[in-house]
Amino acid sequence: MADILLTHATVVTMNGRREIIRDGAVAIEGNLIADVGKTPELKKRCRADIEIDCTDKLVLPGLIDCHVHLAQALIRGCADDLPLIPWLCERVLPMQGSYSPKEGELSAKLCCLEMIKSGTTTFVECLLHWRYGFEEIARVVEASGMRGVLSKSLMNLRGYADQPDAIPEDMAEDGETTMKQTLEMIRRWHRKANDRIHVWFGPRTPGGCTVEFYREIAEQARKHDTGITIHLGEVKQDIIFMRKEFDMTPMQFMEHCGIVGEHVVYAHGVWIPREDFEILRRTRGTVCHCPASNLKLASGFAPVPEMLEAGVNVALGCDGGPSNNCYDMVREMKLAALAHKGRLLDPRALLAETVLEMATLNGARATLWGDMLGSIQAGKLADLIVVNQRGPHLVPVRNPVSNLVYAANGSDVDTVIIDGKIIMQDREVKTIDEEGVVKMVQEAGIRIDERLGLEIGPNWQVR
Ligand SMILES: [Zn+2]
Repeated sequence: MADILLTHATVVTMNGRREIIRDGAVAIEGNLIADVGKTPELKKRCRADIEIDCTDKLVLPGLIDCHVHLAQALIRGCADDLPLIPWLCERVLPMQGSYSPKEGELSAKLCCLEMIKSGTTTFVECLLHWRYGFEEIARVVEASGMRGVLSKSLMNLRGYADQPDAIPEDMAEDGETTMKQTLEMIRRWHRKANDRIHVWFGPRTPGGCTVEFYREIAEQARKHDTGITIHLGEVKQDIIFMRKEFDMTPMQFMEHCGIVGEHVVYAHGVWIPREDFEILRRTRGTVCHCPASNLKLASGFAPVPEMLEAGVNVALGCDGGPSNNCYDMVREMKLAALAHKGRLLDPRALLAETVLEMATLNGARATLWGDMLGSIQAGKLADLIVVNQRGPHLVPVRNPVSNLVYAANGSDVDTVIIDGKIIMQDREVKTIDEEGVVKMVQEAGIRIDERLGLEIGPNWQVR
């Protein structure tokens, strides 16, 4: 007896043989996938409390966004078309530095809503500052039904690459405090909400921590059997800084600091040189590719096909509201696939299938849920999405994976199941009050601009 039976779907299993099952069905019992197969067979084998007819729809593993800033949803569009340093120092950091925990909470709700509505079921948040109210944000994630990694920011310097005072006073923290807060959050939230919430260490980019502090973080992460995520090699200044200060490449520096292993996610990796690929492969870390953010901030192109070729695990991420400006992994998959074809003048540089692997299996490996996520197989966690295949932009269907990556939008996601629970059905999110949040966000966003005396609006005359 299953709890939920999805029937008559095209099931993109992402299993070892990458099977696609036409007229497929998936049975869910509790929070696990109980059975996968053809609809007539599964209907004979198991009855279910709830049957969802998925005719003309795809069923896929939930998408995994490995680099998210929950607190940045509220500052979406606050710094368009600016170079990185003024983008960060004049807009993003001061705006986030003025947050109240209530604003952090609202931003997290907005971000979770957007992720659920575009098919993300698991995410890795990388830099939660105490200002945003870790506790409130963790409660938002718990109530949203999502699966997520919450990384507490750690720093003991105020630098960002070669800019010594880049972090404004309001956001500055000392090492001892950030470590104490992180350990407290691990105690309170790690592996909580039926193991849907994990707490990781989120050290700041080189320039924000001393070598000794990175080493302490590495040791504590091992001790607590948890992960680390860090922005690495996002902009050219990062490698110049590590070369000048330490005479090392980014991954040589990470290894020097002990921030290596399969429990580490390096965000961006735009400026990771070829000689670092071997360290990444050997230490089994993950690079999270964020193409929209890298293109919008003109940071460059991460060498993604080259890293994959070298055996590096590369996942996919949307980054944040000011750098992307959306949290839609379906759009991100298309951008990833297209950007590298153009860069390498090679239409086979990154295939639709490879990009879907990055957004599912590679993401699963990056999170410490490992082989419990990323594919539709009996015994794995029931994190699934149902995506429409009908609509003028989606027919005819020849290769469903190509349609998903090249033709679909996040808004084609119809139903989302996480941990065996229906979180969204027919595009209605059951865990967050969508209308209420959208209304509050419009007012809250403008309040932040006014508080900082920023006039952010149309560049064209408004009548
Ligand atoms: Zn980021």
